Amino acid sequence: MKQDATEAFAGRLLRWFDANGRHDLPWQHPRTPYRVWLSEIMLQQTQVQVVIPYFERFVAALPDLPALARAPLDEVLALWSGLGYYARARNLHAAARLCVQQHGGDLPRDLAALMALPGIGRSTAGAVLAQAWGDRHPILDGNVKRVLARLHAVEGWPGASRVERRLWELAGSHLPHARMADYVQAQMDLGATVCTRHAPACLLCPVSASCQALAQGRVAELPTPRPGRPLPRREATVLLAWDARGHVLLQRRPPAGIWASLWSLPEAEDEAGARALFEARLRGNWDEGAALEPVDHAFSHYQLTIRPRQWLGVASRPGVLDDDSLRWVAPGELGSLGIPAPIRRLLERSQEGC
Ligand code: SF4
Repeated sequence: MKQDATEAFAGRLLRWFDANGRHDLPWQHPRTPYRVWLSEIMLQQTQVQVVIPYFERFVAALPDLPALARAPLDEVLALWSGLGYYARARNLHAAARLCVQQHGGDLPRDLAALMALPGIGRSTAGAVLAQAWGDRHPILDGNVKRVLARLHAVEGWPGASRVERRLWELAGSHLPHARMADYVQAQMDLGATVCTRHAPACLLCPVSASCQALAQGRVAELPTPRPGRPLPRREATVLLAWDARGHVLLQRRPPAGIWASLWSLPEAEDEAGARALFEARLRGNWDEGAALEPVDHAFSHYQLTIRPRQWLGVASRPGVLDDDSLRWVAPGELGSLGIPAPIRRLLERSQEGC
């Protein structure tokens, strides 16, 4: 990436972080190497909100690295109890003892020396150096992999070494020359709150203008899932509502995400949500809706089961207007609208049965 584009990326991310990022996490105040390291280890496989009370209890009992090294392993495991993945606690304890023996009771300010300690990989070492001392090192945790794979439309499963190498290169190419601690936190916050795995909020994303996956309409496909794994399954209940004229109610999908901006049927994740949607939009009796045969559709990273529920002769509630996001559409008009293939098949099947 060109220098100006690199700086633009980091600058946009930091500006977004100033307004929207997380600034009050307990390990940020004070941001000592020990506290940053502990938080990074606890945050592996575990969400921030779960970690916070454990972190606070842990540092209240063992406030610095020498205290951790002196503590019996049983005490460390008791403080960890409930967080899971206990190898993390054992490695933390062993690493603290090595730091006392080899580094004068401090964490070493050196990538290779940190990576030589138990339980510290390259990304964790980079995160500690960047956050504790402001040193310029990239990180590449799961959130950052996802953001970079989408931003640069990187093909291939990020766990594959070729793909991982490429992502490390890209992570290194974006580093700003200042504010490294904030930059690390900004990347984590972006992945956790905006560029999420299943429902990225591209409209709110500070780097959407340079996102190749968004430009190519491939956000839902990237990052490429691990090969050979069974796809996760999701469900959606859709409203197939025909009015007295034989028009069907369609809704335009959001401009980002699956089937972006296409016309589809109003949908909810489950039947309760669909019922609420029906009652908000339509006059008619939910219980008279006929449950039609479900339709399966495979996306590259999940399997969707669409459960249609159909009504004939219903009408909009007053105030629910035809507009650019919700419309009653005549059958003759369906061919001229962008409609996802499985929804179109469902509409055709429904018309045949009407
Ligand atoms: Fe992620 Fe969307 Fe932002 Fe691209 S535009 S980085 S997919 S949130």
